[in-house]
Amino acid sequence: MIDREVVPGKTLHHIAGEWIGSATGREYENRSPWTGEVFSWAAAGDADDARRAIEAAHSAFPGWAATSPGVRQRVFLRAADILERRAGEIRSALAAETGSGAHFADVQINFATTLLRQAAHLGYEPVGQVIPSDVAGTRAVAVRRPVGVVAAIAPWNASLILSGRSLVAPLALGNTVVLKPSEESPFTGGTLWSEILDEAGLPPGALNVVTHAPGEAGLIGDEMLSNPWVRRINFTGSTATGRRLAEKAGRHLKRVVLQLSGQNPLIVLADADLDYAVEAAAYGAFVHQGQVCLCARRIFLERSIAAEFTTRFAAKVESLPTGDPRIPGTVIGPVINKWALALIERRVEEAVRLGAKLITGGTANPPCYPPTVLVDVPDDAEIAQAETFGPVVILETVESAEQAIHRANDSDFGLAAGIFTRDTYRGQELAAQLETGIVHVNDQPVNDEPQMPFGGMKDSGWGRFGIGVAAEDFSEIQWVTSRHEPRAFPF
Ligand code: NAD
Repeated sequence: MIDREVVPGKTLHHIAGEWIGSATGREYENRSPWTGEVFSWAAAGDADDARRAIEAAHSAFPGWAATSPGVRQRVFLRAADILERRAGEIRSALAAETGSGAHFADVQINFATTLLRQAAHLGYEPVGQVIPSDVAGTRAVAVRRPVGVVAAIAPWNASLILSGRSLVAPLALGNTVVLKPSEESPFTGGTLWSEILDEAGLPPGALNVVTHAPGEAGLIGDEMLSNPWVRRINFTGSTATGRRLAEKAGRHLKRVVLQLSGQNPLIVLADADLDYAVEAAAYGAFVHQGQVCLCARRIFLERSIAAEFTTRFAAKVESLPTGDPRIPGTVIGPVINKWALALIERRVEEAVRLGAKLITGGTANPPCYPPTVLVDVPDDAEIAQAETFGPVVILETVESAEQAIHRANDSDFGLAAGIFTRDTYRGQELAAQLETGIVHVNDQPVNDEPQMPFGGMKDSGWGRFGIGVAAEDFSEIQWVTSRHEPRAFPF
């Protein structure tokens, strides 16, 4: 069972190092998806709160940007130790606030500690180049500088990782941050990060967190978009929300990083190790009850192995324990909320109405939805086109690897993919034909490490996360020349 009981508490904004309620005094009930009980009463922030947070981040920027790399490094290393020390309590909070089971909580805690330790060295990375000039006597350099205030907007589904990913590298590069977590995870995706970094010695105002009630994200988002002190929007979430933000950001000429939805294909070729492919596909489709952007949504099977794969896969899927996320063996925990559950139900029902067949699952058991496998899904079913953020996967038989690639690419999305084949060279060749930002040969799509260049193509987003590439989005290059003697001008 859980390591420690989580008692309901307050989730306040963290602005300029202070824990404060919203300016209006409003708060909302943040409920656990499994028990339905109140996990915390969270501050219901609005544009005024966002403005205060942005001002705090703007004021803290010059000091933090000038802090030596060694001092910054110690903050991140201490934070990693604090996170590890609090692992048991964080595991419980992830289960209570977001329905994350023990395995996925450990994935998140491991990722977050590794991220902090990798980010700790970012301050020591070279920041520029000396560039030869044709103008005699001119010394030219290109220097990377922090951008200023970064606004981070994150979803609830892997709350610890996704908020961490949105703020740690920008901070390590000398920026200051205002984080707006999801209304579903104001603690594990929000103020928990403030608690940890505060204790680790991050100066007040370098990280600010503003929470908000359901349906009110736009109050804070619009302030982030329009406030001139915010220099970057770092967004992770659905394509629909990302598109709306990008449209508004265009009006303000504000750069956005977009990590969006996926409709991820997994291809099993005739020569694949079938036992392994079945195990991997079950993990890839159903980890965290299918609520990971990387989850496999469409599995393409070469005809000669399709029937055998389907039989073995169905048996595996039916064996997955469903229920209380606090029990370590549970694989399929609750769906995040009743609206998400209703959407899954509606999409599966529509597919069946249009001719799809259920291999297993298909009937909700609130707050859970059982792991569900569909075949013969027509292309005009919503579930065939749109990401359905839950434990549902589509199987489709194809005649060849080429047809699998064609079907995989026949999607507006392009986040992640997997290919199973014993011929890894051929797997690599096929990977090059996939229109996805991430491809794994002989692995399922749910993989991430902080140093990897993570991101999608097409409607799955712009930009890449990853410690090694973070400077591309979260610093500005400045071209600086200097001369030690005057030059001649023509007039
Ligand atoms: P969502 O788009 O509903 O919300 C994401 C964030 O945007 C939340 O913080 C939400 O409060 C905020 N938001 C909503 N409206 C806003 C507005 N008008 N202005 C500013 N912010 C606003 O997504 P979700 O349901 O929280 O998360 C699930 C989605 O995120 C899925 O589509 C999933 O694929 C995607 N996701 C993508 C990645 C990735 O790295 N590509 C990672 C995790 C999740």
